[in-house]
Amino acid sequence: MRKSELTIIAVATSKDARQAQRRVALNSIRLHGPISRAELVRVSGLQRSTISVLVDELIEEGWVSEGSANEPAHNAKPMLLHLDVERAGIFAVELRPEVTTVALAGVDARYVEQTSWPTPQTPEVFVRRLARTVSAMRRAHPRVVCEGMGVSLPGRVDHDGRLVFAPNLRWRDVNLSPLIEASCGLPVVLENAANACALGEFWFGRHPEGIRHLVAITVSEGIGVGLLVNGELLHGGQAMAGEFGHVTIDVDGPPCPCGKRGCWERYASNSAAVQHYVHGPSSEVGGIPRFEDLLRFAAHGDGRARQSLERMARYLGFGLANLAMALAPELIVVIGEVTAVWDQMGPIVLDAMQKQSLPHMTTRVVATDPAAQPRLRGALSLVLQRHFGTPPVA
Ligand SMILES: [Zn+2]
Repeated sequence: MRKSELTIIAVATSKDARQAQRRVALNSIRLHGPISRAELVRVSGLQRSTISVLVDELIEEGWVSEGSANEPAHNAKPMLLHLDVERAGIFAVELRPEVTTVALAGVDARYVEQTSWPTPQTPEVFVRRLARTVSAMRRAHPRVVCEGMGVSLPGRVDHDGRLVFAPNLRWRDVNLSPLIEASCGLPVVLENAANACALGEFWFGRHPEGIRHLVAITVSEGIGVGLLVNGELLHGGQAMAGEFGHVTIDVDGPPCPCGKRGCWERYASNSAAVQHYVHGPSSEVGGIPRFEDLLRFAAHGDGRARQSLERMARYLGFGLANLAMALAPELIVVIGEVTAVWDQMGPIVLDAMQKQSLPHMTTRVVATDPAAQPRLRGALSLVLQRHFGTPPVA
């Protein structure tokens, strides 16, 4: 190895070490705050001088506040550090084929403001609209220091922020990240919606401590799969890991927007259930219903709507069995409109999954609450992950 290479490694290592120390300090304040500097030295395991420098930096950047706001001024208690949830803000963007939602949130994931608009046809118009929304929100909340923006979207994004695969969005090969950064003036993290949901579940889900292997399934027009392996998102080569939605079920099956036939998502997605309903025997349907209509039809006793949903649920279960056998995650989380009727669909999904699984599989399956806005929460967690890193194992 040449000397110059050694120098590069040494510089990179010291930068990484500093980043790691910063994450430990920030996480310790997040988990244990309000906390005194002395106590922070103890729980973080970092040296007093390191803590002193890092804390000053975090205060200056607006992440952390120091004070005893709830205590009288003469109180002898030490000044306490806590996350400045009022001041440190994050933009979360949920980009979907039909609708885009933009939210400004605190680092505690409480939304300060949010708005939605129809997703424009082209990325250029999308970026202009996003920039207008962001600047209006910043003007409305002048005290908030914006730390960055997370965007969850239905596609795969490479390491440079280029959209490489988004069949349901129908935007091709656009370098989205620099476009957004230039227009909005904020550092941006773009991520596949299912990956973002996996991370969101990791940060905010109510699961027993220690879940490190998690799969998130977003069920909508298509099926997205996000893989969290040992606490880290798995991207794979060209950032294409997780395209289980396009695993072939039947080479002669229905055509898929990806260009192939018979992909899993053509059997187990919302649009697959709708297609099955529309093209079923003795169809008398005028116009193509939405998935929400199908749920309503089934609730009002439409037997064919119920059959289409049950078929979707069975195929979901088969796919989940394959995922569980391939990856053995501790947890699979399901995200999408289908979770609104999980009391009916869940048992069919789990029954199909169990029938196709190997014995001794212990993977749990849970449906997320749509009210928690999992895709938006995932977008938020992209920025949190960048600053806070992998949460320490308690
Ligand atoms: Zn496909």
